[in-house]
Amino acid sequence: AERFSPRVRALPSTIPFVGPEALERRLGRPFKARLGANESVFGPSPKAVSAMADAAALSWAYGDAEQLDLRQAISQKLGLTPDHIVAGEGIDGLLRDLVQAAMEPGDMAVTSLGAYPTFNYHVTAHGGALDFVPYGEDFRQDWPALVARAKVVRPKILYLTNPDNPTGSWHDAKAVEAVLRDVPEETLIVLDEAYADFAPAEALPETTRLAPNLLRFRTFSKAYGMAGVRVGFVFGEPDAIAQFGKVRNHFGLSRMAQAGALAALSDDDHLRKTVEKVAAGRKALAELARAKGLVPLASGTNFVAIDLGRDGTYARAVLDAVLRRGVFIRMPGAAPLDRMIRVSVGTPADIALFAEALDGALEEVN
Ligand code: PMP
Repeated sequence: AERFSPRVRALPSTIPFVGPEALERRLGRPFKARLGANESVFGPSPKAVSAMADAAALSWAYGDAEQLDLRQAISQKLGLTPDHIVAGEGIDGLLRDLVQAAMEPGDMAVTSLGAYPTFNYHVTAHGGALDFVPYGEDFRQDWPALVARAKVVRPKILYLTNPDNPTGSWHDAKAVEAVLRDVPEETLIVLDEAYADFAPAEALPETTRLAPNLLRFRTFSKAYGMAGVRVGFVFGEPDAIAQFGKVRNHFGLSRMAQAGALAALSDDDHLRKTVEKVAAGRKALAELARAKGLVPLASGTNFVAIDLGRDGTYARAVLDAVLRRGVFIRMPGAAPLDRMIRVSVGTPADIALFAEALDGALEEVN
């Protein structure tokens, strides 16, 4: 008899995500610039660092399973109450909890083909099935087509990312309203707002805009510069939020993570400065791409997708040549996104290293 579930044994691989450390081991040398995971090289608030150090001294003790201080601080920022919020081990951890809470093996979820791949990983690992809707010709998630598909498939979960990874594009708050109006009530709408802090105001509905089937996800991994700490949160109506409490890992959000996130929320100045630096870096990346005759996509995030204008084979060759020159970037997956590379904002020095690597790569490949 198999000790592990046959369904799990049949899954394609242990982990679909090849992070920069794994890539460095494969390439046999460290990266000079790390611009492939949409992290913030500008780092966490010094207040968060010091709070995490203090918490480390107390790390013999479990953190607060109710996360009350953190949930209170988040709810104040959002104009909600703590029962509208649950925090977890990044958006990824919470999305995993959601699949467990919402889906039975065999259930369906709908997502965009080439969107943030962690969605697929969770659903597949849980024995669910995915239905994919291609991106639009404008390289944005095709929300009308996703809604139309949801009406037919009646999935348990519909995944939307706003602003989007890997394209950086966004829809406005009116488009969110159209989704809420038209998606069947029994479908949970995941609105992944990981990049909200960088987004134009028009992209974001009021934080108090909730619905029984709407779950909005945010993270400390991007603008707060704390990807390695693993803290994110989801907000929604209390009944939906309460379902997470039944399945989540109760001590999963560490004492250090809770203390760090709480302190980070008290440092608006650091957040503002990071967002400003990111905006400047985004502009620099776009200009650099244009100067080489390439097309940067408009971005409401901390990265820029650059359309290389040919096909996936060409983009893959350019990507590999950039990686070999010591700069970690990524390529979005499926057509029509396969002609692009995706570059996270870094320091001006990082961006200069990328520019140099891209020059060399284009020379080699063209
Ligand atoms: N959602 C999207 C759309 C992302 O791009 C990312 C980060 N790559 C995440 C979620 C993961 O966020 P976290 O670090 O909070 O798990």
